Amino acid sequence: MKIAVMKESCPGERRVPLIPATAEKLVKLGAELVIESGLGQSCRFEDADYEKAGAAVSAARRELLQSADMILRLRKPPADEIELMKKGCIHISYLDPFNEGELVELLRRAGVSAVSLEMIPRSTLAQKMDVLSSQANVAGYAAVLLGAEHLDKIFPMMTTPAGTIKPTRVFVIGVGVAGLQAIATAKRLGAVVEAFDTRPVVEEQVKSLGAKFVKIDLGETGQTKDGYAKALTPEQLALQKEGMTKACARADVVITTAQLFGRPAPRLIDSKMLAEMRPGSVVIDMAVESGGNVEGAELDKVTEIGGVRVIGFGNLPGRVAETASQMYSANLGNFVEHFWDKKAKVFNLNRNDEIIKGALITHDGEIVSEMYKSIINK
Ligand code: NAD
Repeated sequence: MKIAVMKESCPGERRVPLIPATAEKLVKLGAELVIESGLGQSCRFEDADYEKAGAAVSAARRELLQSADMILRLRKPPADEIELMKKGCIHISYLDPFNEGELVELLRRAGVSAVSLEMIPRSTLAQKMDVLSSQANVAGYAAVLLGAEHLDKIFPMMTTPAGTIKPTRVFVIGVGVAGLQAIATAKRLGAVVEAFDTRPVVEEQVKSLGAKFVKIDLGETGQTKDGYAKALTPEQLALQKEGMTKACARADVVITTAQLFGRPAPRLIDSKMLAEMRPGSVVIDMAVESGGNVEGAELDKVTEIGGVRVIGFGNLPGRVAETASQMYSANLGNFVEHFWDKKAKVFNLNRNDEIIKGALITHDGEIVSEMYKSIINK
């Protein structure tokens, strides 16, 4: 089975989908692995490192796309490359299917079996392949460092002959994977941390990290069967904003991570709330790429609003590209290994498996993901 790994073509992306250690693992499984020349360059992995791992290297991108039985990459495929792929080719990457309807249609028409890594179920078994978790984890870490860099104060308390310096106060909104890592990182740097999430189950997790859970009574909120937050009613959202205004005002750094699966992110901080904040404080909108939690946040920009620095940098995992690549690559390798038939040395696209059922979007000219169909047809 010929597996091709494509070099990322999205400008500014420094993560790489496969590092040499995972290449070696795939070669040991018996795959015929070919990487596109320059694949690991942005993380300082040379072609020779992949060759040492047993992979072949090719600069003929078009030929690679045309001949591969399986294609691995980081981001969604460029539209003009889809028609080059073989019918029946298994394509594994981030796909952002809910926002990429046209791309999904092209993949369907080309007869490609497109796996969207974002759609892997959040089960214990699938944890080792869960790119959402691994990338959110490093993003949460990167967000805190970004906050520290843009704040004109230090995080830890210091008792010095020049006086006592108060610790920085951090407020984390949304306590999923990214939020938990943001709390842990801010605590390690010595900040006093508060956090809020609409899923009441996270209160214990927040406390176990030594942070304070901000209580806001929103009535029934709950979560979906997969553990995702449900969208709030407009009344609940108004209550939440009111409840968070004070916590934002006493914070030096606010980090928002709130997401809703398959929908735009909820707008949680408006200009009125920003106006209550101290000039010089920093707000990091980690949801800026999926609609934004903060009014006025702009993608890849720092916007000053009444003296508050609102940061909307996209691709936070890309700021720690080497670690993010190591984790993404491990997730990808684990996914391929999990379904690898060691005898036949082929990937077994088992349509009855819960993970494949969740992540496979198109197959054999059809859209096969029930989740995709149900959200798109809403
Ligand atoms: P996410 O990125 O979808 O959302 C981030 C957080 O935002 C969530 O905690 C969500 O509750 C919160 N949120 C949504 N609306 C909000 C609002 N109005 N105000 C405040 N917060 C709001 O979350 P995620 O990190 O992908 O995690 C989603 C779920 O998956 C969680 O239950 C998590 O524990 C679970 N999970 C399970 C596994 C596993 O078992 N393998 C792995 C990772 C995550």
